[in-house]
Amino acid sequence: MKPTLEEYWRTDGHLWIDAALLLGVTVDLGARTLKDYVSPVGVRYFTVSELTDAHVAGFPSKLVPPPCAWPAAVVLLVLADRLREAAGGPVKIRNWWRPEAYNKAVKGAAGSDHLWACALDLDFPGFWARRRAQREVLAPLWRDGRYKLSIGVGYKTLHVGCFAPETLRLGVQRQWRYGSLPREEGL
Ligand SMILES: [Zn+2]
Repeated sequence: MKPTLEEYWRTDGHLWIDAALLLGVTVDLGARTLKDYVSPVGVRYFTVSELTDAHVAGFPSKLVPPPCAWPAAVVLLVLADRLREAAGGPVKIRNWWRPEAYNKAVKGAAGSDHLWACALDLDFPGFWARRRAQREVLAPLWRDGRYKLSIGVGYKTLHVGCFAPETLRLGVQRQWRYGSLPREEGL
C-alpha cells in the first residue's frame, strides 16, 4: 500500500531537509508561500511559477502541493539549476507535483514519483546537453548514494527524483530509459 502524500512527508520529509543541507542550502520553515520558501535559495534559472505550471486543460493553472512537500522544491530546483548550468542551454521543467487526477490525465505511471512531489521532468535542448548534464551532475550524486535517486533517461529528457517511496521501498536507486532513447545508447 502506497503512503498518501501527507503520510510520506510526515515519515520521510526529514530526508529532504538533510539533502538540502548536504547541498548547502537551508530552508525557511516559516515561509507562507512556496515562492517565499524557495527564494532564499537563490535559484538562477528557474522560477516557482514554472515549477508549478499545469499543462493540461481542465486543471487549475498552478499545481502547488501542501507545504509539507515544499522541501522537495528546494532540493529539486538546486539540482535543476546545476543541470541547466552543465547543459549550457535552456532547460524546461515539464512536471513537478502531479496530483492523482492530473497524473492520470498525462498517463503517468500509477506509482509515479510525481504523486509525492519527489521528482522533476526536464526537457533539454538536445541529446548532448542532456547527456553532459546527466554525467556531470547526476553521476556523482548517484555514486554518493545519499540522495536515493530515481532517474529516467530519454533522448533529450530526464526524470530526476530523490527519496521516492518506490526507491525507499526497494532500498536501491532506480534508473530507467524512455522509448525516445535508442536502445544502443547507454543510460
Ligand atoms: Zn517524471
